[in-house]
Amino acid sequence: MLHYRVVPESPHGHLFGVTVSLDKVNGELIWRLPAWVPGSYMIRDFARNIVAISATVDDQPLALTKRDKHSWHTAAAQGRVCLTLQIHAHDPSVRAAFLDSQYGFFDGTSLFLLPDGHDDAPCKVDIVKPDGVAFNGWTLATGLVVDAVDAAGFGRYQAENYADLIDRPVLMGELAQFDFDVAGSRHSIALSGRQQADSARLSRDVAAICGTHAAMFGAMPMTDYTFLTRVTGAGFGGLEHRNSSALACARNTLPRRGEAATDVRDDYRTLLGLISHEYFHSWNVKRIRPAAFVPYDLNQEVHTELLWAFEGITSYYDNLALVRSGVIGVDSYLELLGQDMTRVARGHGRFKQSLAESSFDAWTRFYKQDASAPNVIVSYYVKGALMALALDLTLRELTQGTKSLDDVMRLLWQRYGRHAYGADASADSGVPENGVQAVAEEVAGQSLASFFQQAVYGNDDIDLAPSLEVLGVCLQWRSAASHADKGGKPAPDSLYLGALLAADSAGVKLRVLYEQGVAMQAGLAAGDVLIAVDGLRVNQSNLDEVLASYVPGERVRLHAFRGDELLSVEVTLAASAPEFAYLQVATGGLTAAGRAWLQLK
Ligand code: ZN
Repeated sequence: MLHYRVVPESPHGHLFGVTVSLDKVNGELIWRLPAWVPGSYMIRDFARNIVAISATVDDQPLALTKRDKHSWHTAAAQGRVCLTLQIHAHDPSVRAAFLDSQYGFFDGTSLFLLPDGHDDAPCKVDIVKPDGVAFNGWTLATGLVVDAVDAAGFGRYQAENYADLIDRPVLMGELAQFDFDVAGSRHSIALSGRQQADSARLSRDVAAICGTHAAMFGAMPMTDYTFLTRVTGAGFGGLEHRNSSALACARNTLPRRGEAATDVRDDYRTLLGLISHEYFHSWNVKRIRPAAFVPYDLNQEVHTELLWAFEGITSYYDNLALVRSGVIGVDSYLELLGQDMTRVARGHGRFKQSLAESSFDAWTRFYKQDASAPNVIVSYYVKGALMALALDLTLRELTQGTKSLDDVMRLLWQRYGRHAYGADASADSGVPENGVQAVAEEVAGQSLASFFQQAVYGNDDIDLAPSLEVLGVCLQWRSAASHADKGGKPAPDSLYLGALLAADSAGVKLRVLYEQGVAMQAGLAAGDVLIAVDGLRVNQSNLDEVLASYVPGERVRLHAFRGDELLSVEVTLAASAPEFAYLQVATGGLTAAGRAWLQLK
């Protein structure tokens, strides 16, 4: 039995006090903190936040030696060995630990040391409320299993083993919390931070989305589920866990009281897409897992070519569930698909990296991208979602509508997911690297080798237009309508530099330059600050307007700063290539196949 204790020692100083103890030790031990957190594929070296560490045996000092950046050695000892740590917690992301006077959050990977060889030991963890009247109103939300806690949720929790312990993060603070039922399982949204959201609507919409995912898989693997949500002025992110997710969202993206339920603002739709995404992961990646992750090696990078399946397929179903659940309409969903197609089409990195390569190199490329990313890599999320759409439509065509990607997900669940974490967990060996293709071929009743070769292992585009036409959906392409254009809707062309912009006090920063755009071809680079077009000052808000007085083919001089050096280049103005997609329901409406795809009643 491993016994942990977490004390929010100094909210103002952002310090958690943590102890871990192990009874009946007889010998030396090595203790480790993970270098990364499952779901976020980058080495983060959480041990760098340990500011103090010491060891005792039966309350007497015990020699402790640091071995490397994240492991320690305790000398030979007999009895109860206890390590006491102070951990600095001031990372507001969804994947680490944070403590201040407003809220506390932690992922176990940031706080809990594991002694080698004790991966399977059951765990208990005591979580203490911070001291002082200022914290009287704090409550605690977590997916951890209760042992004995007070009304506010502080007290003792238990976990089956270390992997279980670190997959159930904890949120504490003055939380708003509301519950709802999904397929007989208690679900809860916990919000920290000031907000006045329409909680009834949020619960209703989220319940409908969760219910859609559960119905698709035909299984509810969790007895309870909690969305641990940090609400701030600006923030966006999520990380999936076994029976919870850690979310960050901006206050004004939440549904407002008095707002019509038919009005799904774009930013609320984005938030629902995030919630849907993390929840879908409860099946796809938390339980249906790549064999490479069974078990996770949290000491170093673990490579798999399958992230397109775990993130891409999840990214396909996240928005699809919004329309299937009736939370958004068909046109709204088609706009989201058009935006995904636009993002992929604009990035010529897709000609240089396949989905399999992007997955394998996630650690050093996708997670360490800079402004050149669209030109040099492809996203296994966004292109992965389009690959999932293509696979879904291919399966529907090959089987005359009798099978779909839903069947592939159900079969993956039956074969690889349902045993995860259960009594017969030994049956769970994870999905082999060719396993998703094999299951898809089983559902199709034929080889899909050429499809996978092109979509997953190759760099050629998949033309989705013919398959969409079968559904009664027209895919069309146009040029950029402005520098803020994301695609998804019809719009008139305008002159376009081929850049994503950001505000800058001197002018307008060229945040990202597409290699096919006129600005990069004229010699400008990401990070340059454009200050004038043809001698007229420009900024982020007037650039499109200034360009609107020219016609395609005209040459103009641009002035920009690179660092403190002034550059002057000439460009031939043009519309962008037709890389902006939009989809519309055909004049005859969706076909029966199209209605089946979106599960319209
Ligand atoms: Zn994800």
